[in-house]
Amino acid sequence: MNLPDLENKADLLYSQALRKSKADHRGMVTCILCGKEMPWEESECSHYIPRGNKRTRFHPSNTHINCHDCNIRHNDNQEPFRKWMLANTFPGGVSFLRKLSREYIYSLDYRILLDETIKQSKLILK
Ligand SMILES: [Zn+2]
Repeated sequence: MNLPDLENKADLLYSQALRKSKADHRGMVTCILCGKEMPWEESECSHYIPRGNKRTRFHPSNTHINCHDCNIRHNDNQEPFRKWMLANTFPGGVSFLRKLSREYIYSLDYRILLDETIKQSKLILK
């Protein structure tokens, strides 16, 4: 599989696995920013550091549940998400992600990350 196709597959499966794993016994999840409750299938996987960054694209500390509206709003105004991150990630988590996002990743390593993400996500979705 070529890299863009592998990346699309990993994005889809990672997003589904994250959202499903956060669901309660009713299959509901809560938007971290506005508190809206919704079925996990309707929620979105939002990236604090934008998804274009390969290092943080599949990092659990960088990916959180959003409703569609908050995920769109986040593109224009990062402040609510930043505040939430500072209050809810581990101490130094935001700086850690920023630092990680600046590290180069070789395409071979990225391919391994994609393969591993797909494998782990499938286990969660079973
Ligand atoms: Zn929301």
